[in-house]
Amino acid sequence: MANYYNENTILYLNGEYIKAADAKMDLYSQSLHYGYSVFEGIRSYKTINGDTKIFKAREHFERLYNSAIAVNLPYRWTVEELTAATYEILERNKLEDAYIRPVVFAPANMSFAQNAESYITIQAWEMQPFLGEKLLRVMTSSFQRPNPKAFMIQAKAAGHYVNSILASQEAKAKGYDEALLTDMNGYVAEGPGANMFYEKAGQLFTPSPGHILPGITRETVFEICKELDIPLGEKLVTTDELKDADAAFFCGTAAEIIGWESFDDIPFKKNWNDSVGKRVQEAYKDKVIEKKPLPPNPKDELTKTLIVEELY
Ligand code: PMP
Repeated sequence: MANYYNENTILYLNGEYIKAADAKMDLYSQSLHYGYSVFEGIRSYKTINGDTKIFKAREHFERLYNSAIAVNLPYRWTVEELTAATYEILERNKLEDAYIRPVVFAPANMSFAQNAESYITIQAWEMQPFLGEKLLRVMTSSFQRPNPKAFMIQAKAAGHYVNSILASQEAKAKGYDEALLTDMNGYVAEGPGANMFYEKAGQLFTPSPGHILPGITRETVFEICKELDIPLGEKLVTTDELKDADAAFFCGTAAEIIGWESFDDIPFKKNWNDSVGKRVQEAYKDKVIEKKPLPPNPKDELTKTLIVEELY
């Protein structure tokens, strides 16, 4: 297990900056007993200017608010104050490339009744890419994503992650790197902690919203595709389509962008380094460190025309 904190680590707890080792939480909390809390996973990066920047702080703190409201957890913080608190935590812990974990949690309450207040903590630590940097062997999980009529599936609620843990542990126990979960209708949904895209005939596709966490990295991939003129579509995806794909990747704040080697033991047709996903991966790496993309090479225009002609 990673080292999340040591005796010097400072965390944010309800407006105060305190030593992680001294922080206390109520063991009678509704969050601990029922998995009733919401959280975020955010990253900061040392940019090319040398500053430390939180990537898409507003988007993450707005999602934290939306997650809390979706599950009726009282919420009284602004994006600005939480962003400022996060920068303070990064500075006090001398962190640059960090993973940041805000959690909104409930007081002592063994009933299912709503609370009058919530608490918040923000923690940060150094973390390598969540799924590593090697191409992944992915398997279809025997666990499906939760029914969106049983959960507020668009919320990043702690309880949902029991499903993620089961799926990921099953995949690892069977010798794979990660799981892919289908939705309750059998269509491809997402990984335990990341969204997915696949490439077919030079285009990228990703499962439509409804059964997935609408990822901020997924949204960033949309932006990158627009910038690089990569055709992209949202659709219902079957596992058979995925087996016939040219390449695939997971994306998420923690995982960043990571290619797949195989899906249910079927290797992908394209070498990852020649895939569209690889270009997206490079563009993502540049974006988070605020490196401006190079002006387009006139030769690229020519290649694009050829690809478009090939497609139709
Ligand atoms: N799906 C799930 C289930 C996740 O836990 C995550 C990670 N937050 C994602 C997708 C990717 O979301 P994001 O890009 O916002 O990190």
